[in-house]
Amino acid sequence: MINIRTEEEIELLRQNNELVSQTLAEVAKIIRPGIATRVLDRRAEEFIRDHGAKPGFLGYNGFPASLCVSVNDTVVHGIPSGYELRDGDIVSVDCGTYMHGYYGDSAFTFGVGEVPPAVQRLLEVTRESLELGIEAAVEDARVGHIGHAVQAYAERNGYTVVRELVGHGLGRNMHEDPEVPNYGLRGVGPKLRAGMVICIEPMVNMGSKNVYQDSDGWAIRTRDGKPSAHFEKAVVIRSGKAQQLTTFAYIDEVLQRLNN
Ligand code: MG
Ligand code: MG
Repeated sequence: MINIRTEEEIELLRQNNELVSQTLAEVAKIIRPGIATRVLDRRAEEFIRDHGAKPGFLGYNGFPASLCVSVNDTVVHGIPSGYELRDGDIVSVDCGTYMHGYYGDSAFTFGVGEVPPAVQRLLEVTRESLELGIEAAVEDARVGHIGHAVQAYAERNGYTVVRELVGHGLGRNMHEDPEVPNYGLRGVGPKLRAGMVICIEPMVNMGSKNVYQDSDGWAIRTRDGKPSAHFEKAVVIRSGKAQQLTTFAYIDEVLQRLNN
């Protein structure tokens, strides 16, 4: 069943996704070579709780942390650990919150130190593919329009999109209908209606699209060991352009400050 949200519900979802946006910027402040990924997780959990929410991922299907931290060939669902980020790594940070009965969910992939230009390009194209997916997410279009936009752009740039993991509806549960694949055909899938809240989250691989699950039971990794990038925003379907509940503006401010 696909939920249509009232404006009151959308406001609560907006508050959650605003907090996720701020949390990812807090994490951005401390990403650097030498920092252990579990330190990022601790910082996020502290920030989320300080703002009156609960970490949305902690305990979700038994997940042991507040963030998914996925380095290099890990696509998503990486468990924070003692691994210390290295110069040239890329790290996807996926964050969820829960408060007032609703969830927030967003992800951003960061470069650590000096990232090779080819990998930097993967990050840029994946982020752009998310924005193209959002542009396609208009009332009366179908879910397939979103996936088509993401896939066409990623593949035009020489990359592949992961099939096994998809975006989703967001609301009283972290993962609701509809599934929002990052591939597909225009005109296929459920119709987008005003008031639907969905997460669009392209996972784009530099090499082949094939992935496998790590023996830890969580991390999804590329078969060929090549890097993968992941960006995610929550949006509300409106007549005309979708309304973004997530903003990367706080992250961009932090990254700009760190680069100057
Ligand atoms: Mg998600
Ligand atoms: Mg997520």
